[in-house]
Amino acid sequence: MPAPSPRRTQKCSPESNASFRIVIPSEARNLLSLSKEPPAFSLGLQDNRRAAIIFYNALVKSWDVIIIGGGIIGLTLAIALRKRGMQVLVVERGEPAREASHAAAGMLADCPLELPRALHPLATASARMYPEFVHELEDESAIDTGLRDNGTVLFPPQAPAPMPGTNLDAAALADLEPALAPTERPALFLRERSVDPRALAAATLKAAKHRQVDVSSGTTVKEVCIENGRVSGIHTDKSSYGARIVVNCAGAWAGNVAPLRVPTRPVKGQMLALVGSLALHHVIRAPEVYVVPRGDGRIVIGSTLEEAGFDKRTDVNTIHRLHQAAIRLVPALSQARIIEDWAGLRPGTPDDLPILGATGIPGYFVATGHFRDGILLAPVTAYVMSQIIAGEKPDYNLSAFSPQRFHQ
Ligand SMILES: Cc1cc2nc3c(=O)[nH]c(=O)nc-3n(C[C@H](O)[C@H](O)[C@H](O)COP(=O)(O)OP(=O)(O)OC[C@H]3O[C@@H](n4cnc5c(N)ncnc54)[C@H](O)[C@@H]3O)c2cc1C
Repeated sequence: MPAPSPRRTQKCSPESNASFRIVIPSEARNLLSLSKEPPAFSLGLQDNRRAAIIFYNALVKSWDVIIIGGGIIGLTLAIALRKRGMQVLVVERGEPAREASHAAAGMLADCPLELPRALHPLATASARMYPEFVHELEDESAIDTGLRDNGTVLFPPQAPAPMPGTNLDAAALADLEPALAPTERPALFLRERSVDPRALAAATLKAAKHRQVDVSSGTTVKEVCIENGRVSGIHTDKSSYGARIVVNCAGAWAGNVAPLRVPTRPVKGQMLALVGSLALHHVIRAPEVYVVPRGDGRIVIGSTLEEAGFDKRTDVNTIHRLHQAAIRLVPALSQARIIEDWAGLRPGTPDDLPILGATGIPGYFVATGHFRDGILLAPVTAYVMSQIIAGEKPDYNLSAFSPQRFHQ
């Protein structure tokens, strides 16, 4: 762990001199005839002092939990904690859910061939949670998340034994997905779902606000404050906020928040989207490219795995290469029009496993490092992290994901 920075001695609790955001709704202000100053300072008379302090305490907003990062992981966790009655503040550097969660393809790929073994139980559980998860979000937000249940055609890197899913010979493949180019490659049908991550994120944000989760956008968390050996809040580029529990959900940027070195790194993925009158029913996934149809007619193609730091620019040649690889799989894609290309930064970790759980600092938790599977893993992450934060034993063995595995 790095040496503590000098700011670490600054306090985050309301008793300290640190500045605090005071949220006094205008209705309350009118009701109580308050001036623009906080009431404790606007009422100067000795007799009124006790009453002023009571008003002040009632009106200063405090949080049980502060979540750093408003991506799909932070927002989903915020809702899970709110359901347990906790007051939650999400602090987001930019706009919520505009980073990896906005860039994703949205495959809910719980295929054991493509996941580290330690992740199988969580991936399976999360995939099973999805219909209920999106049903609730759609209900609360009135936003369609684009959940599709048509399944995936997988061209595995090599024919494994035993195979998951259903084996498809050339005739069965042509029958199932006529848009595919004829091929003798081994192919499997997997009962996987997909979702539109942008719609999912919008629905999650709206549902979180509906449940009175507070969201502070455009605020960068610089440091988690520690007082008397435990968390007392956060310092941001603008202010300080107090809470006894802080969760780092800052994705690829999680390591930039002092004082703990959370070892995430950005792994860039470039993508493009097409529109056309093509009837493609299934997600098609091959080692060289994947093709994901959306309900609104868009077709999303991805992706690269690049170690390029925090660079999110796309590259013409790379987009062309992905496009051509997709056309080789689905020839009619050559008739579709490219409407967008983009790149996102997956939160990678040294062992390709997420980082979930308590750190060595009481009150400080981490939920990040979901790499290629954060959309899939969001519901189960929220579920187990809310258990841990509430002091319960999680339903799954999370020892492989402990934040403390990197500090031994
Ligand atoms: C090209 C691509 C394709 C993908 N496809 C899939 C897929 O098909 N299926 C799947 O399951 N997963 C997929 N993923 C992975 C998935 O997108 C990620 O695992 C997931 O979005 C991670 O969510 P997150 O909330 O941890 O991170 P993010 O969505 O990146 O959110 C982190 C947030 O933290 C904020 N932040 C960072 N630092 C600070 C700070 N100091 N203070 C305040 N806020 C901060 C950021 O601004 C950001 O909004 C894909 C990813 C990419 C890039």
